[in-house]
Amino acid sequence: MSDGADARTEGEVLELLQTLIRNRCVNDGSEASGHEARSTAALEGYFGEPGETVEPAPGRRSVVYRVPGRDPTAPRLMLMGHLDVVPVTEEGWSVDPFGAEVIDGVVWGRGAVDMLNITAAMAAAFKPYLTGKLPPPAGDLVYLAAADEESGGGLGAGWIMENRPDLIECDYVLTEVAFPHLHSPGRPPVYPVKVAEKGPAWRFIRGAGVPSHGSQPYGTDNAVVKVAEAVAAIARSGGPVEITPEWRNFVEGAGWDPARTAALLDPDLVDAEIEDMAVDDPLLARWVHACTHTTFSPNLVRGGTKVNIVADRAIVEVDVRLLPGQTEQVIEDHLRKVLGPLYEELEIWGEPARASSSPAGGPMWDAIGDAFESLTGSRRIVPALTPVGTDGRFFRAKGIEAYGVGLYDDRVAFSEFLGLFHGNDERVGVASLGLTARLLSRIIERLSDLTSRM
Ligand SMILES: [Zn+2]
Repeated sequence: MSDGADARTEGEVLELLQTLIRNRCVNDGSEASGHEARSTAALEGYFGEPGETVEPAPGRRSVVYRVPGRDPTAPRLMLMGHLDVVPVTEEGWSVDPFGAEVIDGVVWGRGAVDMLNITAAMAAAFKPYLTGKLPPPAGDLVYLAAADEESGGGLGAGWIMENRPDLIECDYVLTEVAFPHLHSPGRPPVYPVKVAEKGPAWRFIRGAGVPSHGSQPYGTDNAVVKVAEAVAAIARSGGPVEITPEWRNFVEGAGWDPARTAALLDPDLVDAEIEDMAVDDPLLARWVHACTHTTFSPNLVRGGTKVNIVADRAIVEVDVRLLPGQTEQVIEDHLRKVLGPLYEELEIWGEPARASSSPAGGPMWDAIGDAFESLTGSRRIVPALTPVGTDGRFFRAKGIEAYGVGLYDDRVAFSEFLGLFHGNDERVGVASLGLTARLLSRIIERLSDLTSRM
């Protein structure tokens, strides 16, 4: 693309991103929230033609477009973004979180990195194929803008997968998380490519007690006290360490200094290294901890019936995240260890879950490497894991490879970026929007070239 075309692309993505931010598709977890139909309408306007839509609940609309490829046997690629965003705490923001203001080359607003920036950049990369400005790629090219990612996708990608899989048939998916680059001193930056995500395995832990008069607590059996002890023990423990192959691949490619690299790959040294890292860079430390541990976060507690009755029931819900390759056995073993004799007194249950990952190899991986190289001169890409779940898991569960990529300017550093997800003052450099759209265009082209048979 010429410089003029680049500037036009950047302006186009910015304008679309601002519209998506201003549409306030806030998903608070209730079915009545979200209102993604506002943003599917904006996309239909942008593309200049209606797409296929689904709307499992009023306003919870997703839109899909498909450009048929030249070769029905070539792998099909889907670009998938979500339209909803998480709620904000207005007081914590320096600007209007839904104003989408541009200040010194940075656009501010809820969704600026999660993930309306990518949803908009994907639309810009897709549009020339839809309008026929570019010839069709080898395999089908699909664009999905989904509702409800922020509450598990049951009214978005998950619903479509269950009810209208015909709309999203594909072999590869590009979606979030699109990380910015890592700086490595004296060498070109390293580009993390999201290949894997941890498996959310919520656990419910219930304690029972015997009700009696709250005025005489001596010797009573109090369910709230039991559950509180469990919460404290779980929180103190930090979760068991495991160095997975996914983490090893990331650290070996990340370009950190040799001592740090060695410590981050040694299960006996990693905790001390994280502590050290936390002094200067607490957000990076938190992310590294999550990438090297099965994490347990007790986040919701309910118990008791009345202030003058000794509590006969209490429950805590724990956000547990499994690393790739782990099974629920890890959870059971850990809870047994940290709870000690209390373990037998509590009732513990939860749904089965698995982490999901895609290979750091094959045509898609090569197309991503080629695209980075052609735009940046460097193909230093490393496979990265995210602690958070995304809609990508629905596809990995069906054997479809899902990746996350983006290309950012230097306005927001890697660890700062990690803190913007669901945080205050979410923002992204405007130049990143055009860069990401160009990266996605190159990936589409390269995948088409690499898999073309006609
Ligand atoms: Zn997201």
